[in-house]
Amino acid sequence: MKLKIRKGDTVEIISGRSEDKKKRGEVIRVIPKESRIVVQGVNIRSRHQGQTRAGRRQIDAGIVKFEAPIHISNAMLVCPNCNKPTRVGLSRGEDGKVTRICKKCNSEIDAK
Ligand SMILES: [Zn+2]
Repeated sequence: MKLKIRKGDTVEIISGRSEDKKKRGEVIRVIPKESRIVVQGVNIRSRHQGQTRAGRRQIDAGIVKFEAPIHISNAMLVCPNCNKPTRVGLSRGEDGKVTRICKKCNSEIDAK
């Protein structure tokens, strides 16, 4: 299945952890086989990291914060034209290129 959300898109979180709800952020990674995306500033997790060595470099122990992936169904694409979270339609042009269409304002999301 082809995902309708791509890297670089802005999405709004519509469900999931309460502190993330209604948050908007840029998609920084897409994991198509898991239908998951990583969104900047959303679903922040901390990992305690012990002191380790990477070759000659010493990495200090501490808390590493990182964005954990969220399921794509928890996010909605924000249309760059009407600035609202929207469902995405696909339309195939005469040249065979697929364009994403905002179902709210019917404008092309990928038009630049
Ligand atoms: Zn729109």
